Amino acid sequence: MKKYNFYSGPAILPPEVLAQASSAVLELDHIGLSLIEISHRSKEFQAVVDETIHLIRELLQLSPEHQVLFLQGGASMQFCQVPYNLLDNGEKAAYLDIGAWSKKAIKEARLFGNVEIIGSSADKNYSYLPKHYTIPADAKYFHLTTNETIHGTQMRHIPESPVPMVGDMSSDIFSRVLDFNRFDMIYAGAQKNMGPSGATLVVVKESLLGRVKRPIPTMLDYRSHIKDGSLHNTPCTFAIYVCMLTLRWLKAQGGVAAIEKYNEEKAARLYAEIDRNPLLQAVVSGEDRSRMNVCWVLKDAAHDEAFSNLAKEAGCIGIKGHRSVGGFRASIYNAMPMEGIDTLVEVMQSFEKKNG
Ligand code: PMP
Repeated sequence: MKKYNFYSGPAILPPEVLAQASSAVLELDHIGLSLIEISHRSKEFQAVVDETIHLIRELLQLSPEHQVLFLQGGASMQFCQVPYNLLDNGEKAAYLDIGAWSKKAIKEARLFGNVEIIGSSADKNYSYLPKHYTIPADAKYFHLTTNETIHGTQMRHIPESPVPMVGDMSSDIFSRVLDFNRFDMIYAGAQKNMGPSGATLVVVKESLLGRVKRPIPTMLDYRSHIKDGSLHNTPCTFAIYVCMLTLRWLKAQGGVAAIEKYNEEKAARLYAEIDRNPLLQAVVSGEDRSRMNVCWVLKDAAHDEAFSNLAKEAGCIGIKGHRSVGGFRASIYNAMPMEGIDTLVEVMQSFEKKNG
């Protein structure tokens, strides 16, 4: 039976990407060797890195000032690597507190300098985004999470910032058009819209670096990775290769603007059913709703298991809400086809027929 993967990440990838990736594991481009056994210093792998970086630059329309890196340690490593490189003791960074992921970023930044939380939605369990806040002009940088994967919020408008902006875009990069050049730094784990887990994308303006006084270990210093073109040490070759395939796929779909339209349609269809269905309640309302992670609860939580079973029977996998918030969540990243949305909508409707 066809299954639809609604997991939040690692997440659904296009079937053609999976087919190409599995063939490259056996043999890469008729070279007589597997993708995962060739040296990261081989010309074949260098071509993979070059093309992947080229695709990222093209799809995000990045300025030449921005360096594109593939690092390891996930977006979670960036929670500490960002302040390690950008924030000195006694200096201040501004953070928005909009959910579980920004909380983790804030916790790490506090190890290195002062954190000013300039806006928070903790009062309503992160079900909305703070709107009225001021970014202090004396902060070293302003950190924001453009899409909150767990709570299902997404920033529609990126504010003007008087200081460098750092965006955690783990769960919505490549899903919508933004002026990415307004960010001095962007980071994202690959395992949602970009590829498999293991690779972490970092986009950074070099002019932001080298300003802190503390010594930085080589592997944590972005400048080492810029200097060596993301090949300072052995990178996650397989993950980067699959990112390349996924980004080629995205380009063939028409790029970020085209996928954004499709993503809007998918999210609109799903939210419309949640809003219509008398047994369901959306967790987030209005313009703060994420088009990537759609969260809802059943008005009668006693039916949670029955709903889960119905979804499973229809092939909808991975819709349980994050363990910290409960309820349900459908992650509908770029590779989720409309049929997956329609199948989930049918599950909601048949749940209403049975229990309404
Ligand atoms: N930030 C956001 C917004 C996320 O969704 C995630 C992972 N789901 C992370 C950070 C952490 O990413 P990783 O697991 O790659 O460390």
